[in-house]
Amino acid sequence: MTSPKASRPVVAVLGAGLAGLSAAYELRKNGIQVVVLEARTRPGGRIETLRAGFAEGMYAEAGAMNFSDTEPTVLRYAAEFNLSIQNKRPLTAFHRYFIDGHLLSDQDPDAHWPGLRKDEQKLGPDGLFQKYIFPMLAKVGDPDAPGWPSKELRELDAISVAEFVTRQGASPGAVRLLGLGLFDEDGDGISRTSALFALAWLSRLFPLHAVYTMAGGMESLPLAFARRLRKQIEYGCVVRRVEQQRDRVRIHYERSGRQARSIEADYSICTIPFPVLRDISFDPALPPIKQKICNELLNTSVVRTYIQTKTRFWAAPNFTGQTYTDLPVMNLYSAYDGPGSRGILESYVTSKEALKFGAEPESVALQKMIEGMTQVYPQLIEEAEGGVRKDWQADPWARGGYADYQPGQFLEFYPHVAKPDGRIHYAGDHTSILPGWMEGALSSGVRAAGEVEKRLRSSQH
Ligand SMILES: Cc1cc2nc3c(=O)[nH]c(=O)nc-3n(C[C@H](O)[C@H](O)[C@H](O)COP(=O)(O)OP(=O)(O)OC[C@H]3O[C@@H](n4cnc5c(N)ncnc54)[C@H](O)[C@@H]3O)c2cc1C
Repeated sequence: MTSPKASRPVVAVLGAGLAGLSAAYELRKNGIQVVVLEARTRPGGRIETLRAGFAEGMYAEAGAMNFSDTEPTVLRYAAEFNLSIQNKRPLTAFHRYFIDGHLLSDQDPDAHWPGLRKDEQKLGPDGLFQKYIFPMLAKVGDPDAPGWPSKELRELDAISVAEFVTRQGASPGAVRLLGLGLFDEDGDGISRTSALFALAWLSRLFPLHAVYTMAGGMESLPLAFARRLRKQIEYGCVVRRVEQQRDRVRIHYERSGRQARSIEADYSICTIPFPVLRDISFDPALPPIKQKICNELLNTSVVRTYIQTKTRFWAAPNFTGQTYTDLPVMNLYSAYDGPGSRGILESYVTSKEALKFGAEPESVALQKMIEGMTQVYPQLIEEAEGGVRKDWQADPWARGGYADYQPGQFLEFYPHVAKPDGRIHYAGDHTSILPGWMEGALSSGVRAAGEVEKRLRSSQH
């Protein structure tokens, strides 16, 4: 399938994150001319393997760090590109929790969990998930199916996950424990996320049976796409305005050095995250509901701080390297497990804590991080060599980590996030039921490419 006007691309893809890359790759496979305009000087968007600032070839992930056996599109592309994936940890490995000053293992049958009722004590965090959340996952159904959701489910959009599990019988202590490391990391917090939205995305991913990572860094996935789209991707191109005419779209962009340029195409696939889209002008204007989504759908703030250490002193047999805390430093990860003896202890903070840490000058924030992390691992004070910070809220091409629906927003917004506007189609994890997951990004790119191909086919008859 080629354009009737062979000199211009048939499809202009906006953004070279996983969604834009998968859309462009699929279109090209079917012989459709495509150009990808990307603001950064690299592919991958919110996949970023950080290497600068670490010793001995060490690296850490700023964005996606792992994926599971329940993410078929990620696995399919990894196989198609012959990428080496490795099991991140056995599912039997244990996590640590640091609550009310106590360091606990989720596999210690004798652990005493602060705040849990007597009948919840033996359950631990995983048992609480099985009891209060898991039974509902089988009942959620497919948010993308016609007629979804049922009346019973609709009511769950009005309440938060915290209210939902409370209605299932969870004690306040159980609500807090369920938030740590899951809802407080994958969104804006257990009290701020729509229960219906959370159940919908969880039902896509759970139960999972294996957790993987890309050997050598997650960037290998976007780089594999980019190698196959060398001639199609234009880096350093900041899209400023999108104009639609009856038979074409015109994309106005600025190239580094502020040179104004524009290109025409038959269709566009826009993968730019909603908070960034807010500042792009559209002619005709976006429908009011899309504009409202751009303005109001929350993009969880995320700050990740990586402290390089002399040794991996937190390691223990069968330990995942993940410690979920109730401190402002939130979740601690062993962020590097490659060759050498040095380690990287990471703090992953979201929401209000991320805004606070992000507002501090980097050197002050690093010092506060080390002090906070030292409460959990006192040895850090002797072991820390220095650090690196990634603040996703401050990243002008992301403006946050991932979309999260607050109570009442999911049923209003979700039906519109992926709806095309004239010749503009949308992709990106924020247009899928899996915001914050590579599976959401990749599958949305494939979907949008399919939508455009269908229109091209029908316009040829
Ligand atoms: C902190 C963090 C942790 C994560 N952890 C995981 C994980 O463990 N597992 C997992 O599966 N997923 C994870 N994710 C999610 C995963 O990274 C995303 O789902 C995926 O990368 C999103 O891809 P995308 O193409 O939809 O969006 P993006 O990657 O954001 O791509 C959009 C692209 O558009 C470009 N752009 C923006 N504005 C403009 C403009 N004006 N003009 C031109 N280009 C523009 C951007 O530079 C970017 O390249 C994580 C994300 C974050 C932030």
